[in-house]
Amino acid sequence: MTFSHSHLLGIEPLTPSDITAILDLADQYVELNRRDVKHSNVLAGLTQVNMFFENSTRTQASFELAGKRLGADVMNMAMQASSIKKGETLIDTAMTLNAMHPDLLVVRHPHSGAVDLLAQKVNCAVLNAGDGRHEHPTQALLDALTIRRAKGRLHRLSIAICGDIAHSRVARSNIMLLGKMENRIRLIGPPTLMPSEIGAFGVEVYDDMAEGLNDVDVVMMLRLQKERMDGGFIPSEREYYHRYGLDALKLNHAKNDAIVMHPGPMNRGVEIDGEIADDINRSVIQEQVEMGVAVRMAAMELLARNRRAKSPEVMA
Ligand code: ASP
Repeated sequence: MTFSHSHLLGIEPLTPSDITAILDLADQYVELNRRDVKHSNVLAGLTQVNMFFENSTRTQASFELAGKRLGADVMNMAMQASSIKKGETLIDTAMTLNAMHPDLLVVRHPHSGAVDLLAQKVNCAVLNAGDGRHEHPTQALLDALTIRRAKGRLHRLSIAICGDIAHSRVARSNIMLLGKMENRIRLIGPPTLMPSEIGAFGVEVYDDMAEGLNDVDVVMMLRLQKERMDGGFIPSEREYYHRYGLDALKLNHAKNDAIVMHPGPMNRGVEIDGEIADDINRSVIQEQVEMGVAVRMAAMELLARNRRAKSPEVMA
């Protein structure tokens, strides 16, 4: 086992063997999660605090379940109701929490880089649950596990990431992870939704779905991140669906056994046709949710192990 990090802040610092270590352990947790009794004690005695400064349904629930299944004491901070509203800074909040000796801090924040900053101030392991448009590492890891299980490998695949790339932390983390694992990545979307620094990504860029989806193994759709748009990036949702929404006709250009993914929440009829999303022969969207719990269990276990190794007297 090679994973030696103190935090999980992004995919960027991870090596291919770090990624494989998380996915291999997560595979074991998929088995545990399918049993009647889904419990382990690997995090027993440890305190996990979830701080979500931005709305989340699946990610927060997934981290909570992951911690509970591993025996941690899990606390959800209601950040909307917290002192942040009274003007306390992010760092003050973090320092206050730090004084309560959490072991694992799971943080989502609307500002890119906020989670990294916080990790420098606290003594516990920090997991980034999504920061602005920067990174969402556990999403990319759960996507990787879903792909590896569906395709039997995580290398030399042709993978299309489609839609609002510019505002998406899911796209950024996936581009990094899938690139490190030596896949061929295509980004498909309107030029207005492509990041300006795209040239540095080592990817192929298309603005036509039929062309971009030609012969791909994986089709990853993204939500239009309207909350991060400060102007008109698309003419209308109807027009967007017509050109970039995934429907049966467009999907026909991909390989016959191509899988369809979406990180959720989905806008049916905007970036994806409802029937495609529900087609159990093509869509692995529910599997992604299942893999999410397993990947978060694995990531938290590996970080807890590293903490124990560094301070055995505290963590014994
Ligand atoms: N749930 C993902 C995220 O938090 C994707 C999305 O919101 O569209 O980034």
